[in-house]
Amino acid sequence: MDSQSSKNDPLADIEIDRDALRRKYLEERDRRLRRDGADQYIRPGAAAGKFGKFVEDPYAEGDLQRDARVTDVDVLMVGGGFGGLLMGRRLREMGIDDFLIVENASDFGGTWYWNRYPGVACDIESYIYMPMLEELGKIPSMRYASGPEIFQHCQDIARHFDLYAKALFRTKVTEMRWEEARRRWIVTTNRGDRISARFVAMSTGPLNQAKLPGVPGLDTFKGHAFHTSRWDYEYTGGDARGGLTRLADKRVGIIGTGSTAIQCVPHLGKWAKHLYVFQRTPSSIQPRENRPTDPQWASDLQPGWQQERVENFTSIISGIHVDKDMIQDGWTKTFRLLFDNLDVPPDKVADVMDLNDFRKMEQIRRAIDELVEDKDTAEALKPYYGLMCKRLGFSDEYLQTFNRSNATLVDTKGKGVERITETGAVVDGRHYELDCLIFATGFEWLTEHKVGSGFETYGRNGVTQSEAWKDGVLSLYGVHSRDFPNRFVICNSQQPQTANFVHMLDVVTNHLAHLVRHCLDTGIETVEPTQQAQDEWVDQVVAMNESRQQYFQNCTPGYYNNEGEYSLKAARNGSYTGSFIDFAAKLDEQHRTGVFEGLELA
Ligand code: NDP
Repeated sequence: MDSQSSKNDPLADIEIDRDALRRKYLEERDRRLRRDGADQYIRPGAAAGKFGKFVEDPYAEGDLQRDARVTDVDVLMVGGGFGGLLMGRRLREMGIDDFLIVENASDFGGTWYWNRYPGVACDIESYIYMPMLEELGKIPSMRYASGPEIFQHCQDIARHFDLYAKALFRTKVTEMRWEEARRRWIVTTNRGDRISARFVAMSTGPLNQAKLPGVPGLDTFKGHAFHTSRWDYEYTGGDARGGLTRLADKRVGIIGTGSTAIQCVPHLGKWAKHLYVFQRTPSSIQPRENRPTDPQWASDLQPGWQQERVENFTSIISGIHVDKDMIQDGWTKTFRLLFDNLDVPPDKVADVMDLNDFRKMEQIRRAIDELVEDKDTAEALKPYYGLMCKRLGFSDEYLQTFNRSNATLVDTKGKGVERITETGAVVDGRHYELDCLIFATGFEWLTEHKVGSGFETYGRNGVTQSEAWKDGVLSLYGVHSRDFPNRFVICNSQQPQTANFVHMLDVVTNHLAHLVRHCLDTGIETVEPTQQAQDEWVDQVVAMNESRQQYFQNCTPGYYNNEGEYSLKAARNGSYTGSFIDFAAKLDEQHRTGVFEGLELA
């Protein structure tokens, strides 16, 4: 048994056999590794066809009639989620009004436009997740605001900065082509637009392409089926708050038990005649402790409070010591426990972190015994992998759903659903009759299928992005790429990550708006990374992903470790895993001084 620990150790009473657990984790990993890795999924958005209906927009109303736009702008943005909104805001603030935003959806909001499933909410504290609260004079109603409230906030930001006038909704880019003679991008769309733009900013989101499980027979199911990011309330009744009354006589199956399922399963359990949750790998679940915002607390907040809080959170989850945890939620408590104040000699830090990871997971597993009545079900819900292998999950209702008599956990023991039939799903030879099948099977994340964004980009001398990046992304900061001048990618591969995605968007869009302002003011026509700076950045990203492998190679497969497949290409498509706080400071210094390191400004 492991007994070594740091002082004042909150996990002190969790005794574990680390070697036995390590073996168990590897067994669980091996049971899930598959030869087809990330290719196992069906990507309904990648090509129109029999699965294309899974990504149609169920929320757009009527036909859109508008004339094609043939115009020239300073900046064209692709994507109207928080990235596009924040970029629009910064451009407005810097007096750059000649821009357009192309967006596939029929409104702003990005992920909050598409994800309207019951229970949808942010799992990051809303006071730090929802940007510009001070500017808009708002305070979220709950500690973790609901999806509709966040979507409304997106619309409010767009109105505040007069961004609706700049939006081309229900429009998809079909091609981007660099025209060297005019130093412009020529962007065409599926609505016949031909927009020439001095700068293009791509904020298409890292999780915008829905995936379906590659299960035999998927196209044979004759019942009702949809992906969680296209929830069909016509069929289920109700809305994002619940009330799924039309499921009262329905046998509902849901495939997937990630962050999305954690939020919608309690509602399905409450309303379906019977719910079957098909589990391949259980999530780690910790208490969520959502609560209404205390009006007294809100009225005591001082100017600058939000930025201070945002930075406090990011510092903590980056392993940086702070004197005070302003957030005190599951994220910050977990990260502090693992990475901060370990109070052990430096040569013992790695070992204590390893030990704490095992003990924290054991604590999470033990809590399941307290919450789930049926012993076999409780056992099946226990996650056996390292804490950082998958996104942390938080819920006060998910595990409890399995105490309902109308909810069944179908544990596939790492194998996934075996087969789908006309009338249901098969696991371990047993057929489950279903009226409705819901796919909570997630989204593309920084894979080769993601970085292309569904259209071709032709850079200098006609070089295509798909050819240039066939062995993985090549960039400086994940933002700039050689041979693709004046094209900025916001928060995708090779950029630093933090769990509070909107913080990253804010930092990068602020920097880019300054860069554009600088170019417009000084007559700079092209911005492009030097070959050397790009090569060095790519090498750093690869080295970081290589060293992360020590941890991730032992993880059960998932999108954090490219489904267990490590390659140079996967490493290049991965994130920059250095300090986000340092990265933010570096960008800040660059635009304050006007010295943009690693870039050729011509
Ligand atoms: P995930 O990728 O996290 O989960 C997909 C689920 O589908 C996994 O449980 C996976 O199992 C399962 N699955 C895939 N194929 C099969 C199969 N053949 N048979 C059975 N199960 C299968 O997707 P989510 O939509 O849940 O979450 C995606 C991301 O969206 C999150 O990680 C998070 O970043 C974001 N999100 C954020 C929220 C927020 O509040 N900020 C809320 C909700 C989502 P396995 O683990 O074995 O691969």
